[in-house]
Amino acid sequence: MTEPLVVLKDVQKHFGDLHVLKDINLEIGKGEVVVVIGPSGSGKSTLCRAINRLETIESGTITIDGKTLPEEGKALAQLRADVGMVFQSFNLFAHKTILDNVTLGPIKVRKVKKADAEKRAMELLERVGVAHQAQKFPAQLSGGQQQRVAIARSLAMDPKVMLFDEPTSALDPEMINEVLDVMVNLAKEGMTMIVVTHEMGFARKAANRVVFMADGQIVEENTPEEFFTNPQSDRAKDFLGKIL
Ligand code: ADP
Ligand code: MG
Repeated sequence: MTEPLVVLKDVQKHFGDLHVLKDINLEIGKGEVVVVIGPSGSGKSTLCRAINRLETIESGTITIDGKTLPEEGKALAQLRADVGMVFQSFNLFAHKTILDNVTLGPIKVRKVKKADAEKRAMELLERVGVAHQAQKFPAQLSGGQQQRVAIARSLAMDPKVMLFDEPTSALDPEMINEVLDVMVNLAKEGMTMIVVTHEMGFARKAANRVVFMADGQIVEENTPEEFFTNPQSDRAKDFLGKIL
């Protein structure tokens, strides 16, 4: 593997009595694309949220590009800006235009000049195929278009790693591919990505590795080809039997 960019060591997390992350150890190399897959409730979203500190952890460490995530304050805001996150629900600011959605973070957090932020935002909107919608509001766009704007908004912060938590599961089927295509291109361009998805087409096309989680644990890791054709654990076999 290339130099690790994201490193989780012995990470533990409970919600009350529920042990949601059980001693998670995971390294993601620069430019690596890791697909995280597993049954509902297995801790995939908690894992993503822990990586950018939307969720605290009880013990263990998470480092991004050699820096351990601080608890709070300015340093946290900076490190969080290095981690782009795209959720199932698009989470765009409803009362701001598409362009303003994309420029807000760079202007506020990265202190980029408005004109520069807008120029870069238009390039990113072009890249995800929604530049012609820049002056519209989120509700005027389709779900697939909104999710592509959400990706552009994350990219505008120049993140070191992008997290995607089931980015296509709220979309109508005909819009899934337009979002996955953007993600596949991003992967090809060398972005480091952690993607929670059950879209096997994406995993086969873009992932270097599949991480299978169940009950808060990483049960197995393999190349997409090996994982989908030759799962090792009974849990993975059972899970794949249900989704295939
Ligand atoms: P997944 O994304 O794999 O479906 P999650 O990480 O969302 O799993 O959830 C793992 C477990 O933790 C589930 O049992 C879920 O109900 C529980 N959980 C998630 N968030 C919270 C929370 N804020 N408070 C209590 N329990 C939670
Ligand atoms: Mg989830």
